[in-house]
Amino acid sequence: MPATPPTTLVLATGNLSKAVELRALLRDLPAEILDLTEFPDAPQAIEDGTTLQANALLKARAVYQHCKLPALGDDTGLEVAALGGLPGVISARYAGPQHDAHANRTKLLRAMNGIHKRHARFVTVLALVDDSGTCVFDGQCTGRIAYREMTTAGFGYESIFVPDGHDRCFAQLTTSEKNAISHRGAAARKLISHFLAHHDRINTTRA
Ligand code: IMP
Repeated sequence: MPATPPTTLVLATGNLSKAVELRALLRDLPAEILDLTEFPDAPQAIEDGTTLQANALLKARAVYQHCKLPALGDDTGLEVAALGGLPGVISARYAGPQHDAHANRTKLLRAMNGIHKRHARFVTVLALVDDSGTCVFDGQCTGRIAYREMTTAGFGYESIFVPDGHDRCFAQLTTSEKNAISHRGAAARKLISHFLAHHDRINTTRA
């Protein structure tokens, strides 16, 4: 189990929006943060796990094995209560294997047609893999699904998710407003606490 902060960390995500968020969220970690733009030959992990944790580990392990450097995988799901937790682990490919964010949002808004209980939550699992093993941290953000797209800005489901305590969707919040309450922010703060104070570890195993 990694207990000392990595001095170098590769963000195991091809999603630029996630990488930008993670860089900001991990700025208190005393590590050089790299991303996959610096490793164009890194393999794309096949996200065939049945849980967010499994997929986060798949992504981190693939990059760790390729780069021989500590790697951080992120897997995120949007769980809608009225849909029994869907799209959940299949959030990226809810409308099909092409990972089309607009099609995903359209499908979700259609599935919610006529449903007034719109509670939902984003869940993120961050998995760190390095020479000494793996660490997994989770975070969530509760809110509700909007009745329509609220803006053309944002990535993924940001334009149709309104976090609790707000009347604007994620895409309409400032970066610092989103990071303070987001699922990814919560998981990143657990990771930082683990390394800086050894708090909040939720799971560890050997790599
Ligand atoms: P994955 O973790 O890259 O598999 O992302 C799952 C799905 O959730 C994709 O459609 C992402 O675009 C979307 N997603 C991930 N994180 C966020 C977020 O912070 N806001 C909105 N959508 C997100």
